[in-house]
Amino acid sequence: MSVFKIEDLRVSVDGHPILRGVNLEVRSGEVHALMGPNGSGKSTLAHALMGRSDYEVTGGSVTIDGEELLGLPTWQRAAKGLFLAMQYPVEVPGVRLDDMLAAARQARHAPVEDVPAHVAQEGQRLGVPVALLERGVNDEFSGGEKKRAETLQLAVLQPKFAVLDEIDSGLDVDALRDVARRVEAMTHEDNLGVLAITHYARLLTELRPDRVHVMLAGRVVQSGGPELADRLEVTGYEGIAAELGIEELIVETRVEADPFGDPTIGNSPFADPLA
Ligand code: ADP
Ligand code: MG
Repeated sequence: MSVFKIEDLRVSVDGHPILRGVNLEVRSGEVHALMGPNGSGKSTLAHALMGRSDYEVTGGSVTIDGEELLGLPTWQRAAKGLFLAMQYPVEVPGVRLDDMLAAARQARHAPVEDVPAHVAQEGQRLGVPVALLERGVNDEFSGGEKKRAETLQLAVLQPKFAVLDEIDSGLDVDALRDVARRVEAMTHEDNLGVLAITHYARLLTELRPDRVHVMLAGRVVQSGGPELADRLEVTGYEGIAAELGIEELIVETRVEADPFGDPTIGNSPFADPLA
């Protein structure tokens, strides 16, 4: 049994604090859902966990079985058992999925001979046509195809923990069911621990969470059982915020210059810099 632990994680982007002390703990075989409105910091958490360089960690720790991941390059975090399915998967024309997965497994000293067979088998299980597998990774895939392909990567790489950033976005009901069921099966068969970031409770009817967490403005403000997701469907994030007396739901970072603003006030791009 492994433990993935996030403690008091603080992250800034361009000097703006976005995550303001996030605490979460996921164990092998568990599914945790992280829900929150757009702009609350969910993707920032996913990127920071995986070590994206423009996300500055200003405090806290992230460990798997007590081993610190912060400060490690992304590939080493992956080698230690962490996997991220991105909200917007990157297209990599010219690099085949099975070659990429073989390289990823090699970096973890895992066997590679069975990768093509494993990819074919998972492709069938997840409804990813062979023709897609012969293209570059995600190259001109539709939104739904990308999410199926991310799930296929997860199934072949067999990490200890997976962070799924809106794996349900852009999926029709059939694809959603296939993806959610595949992930759910991994939690039983491979003891995978999952942190599933989602807006919608509908993912959670197939991928049943043990715990549900609500993120508002860069913090986990409430945690509970699956019933919390149902309650959110009724009250919305505003309802939870009101109950807890929280005013800020999202993290405001981008201060846009107003092109129609009064130039004497100084927020217009046309303002005289010498005035
Ligand atoms: P969510 O995934 O919950 O919708 P995000 O983590 O994407 O939220 O964004 C949280 C806040 O951080 C938003 O205000 C967003 O504009 C800001 N933010 C995220 N990434 C960047 C970035 N690379 N540059 C500037 N601001 C960012
Ligand atoms: Mg997001």
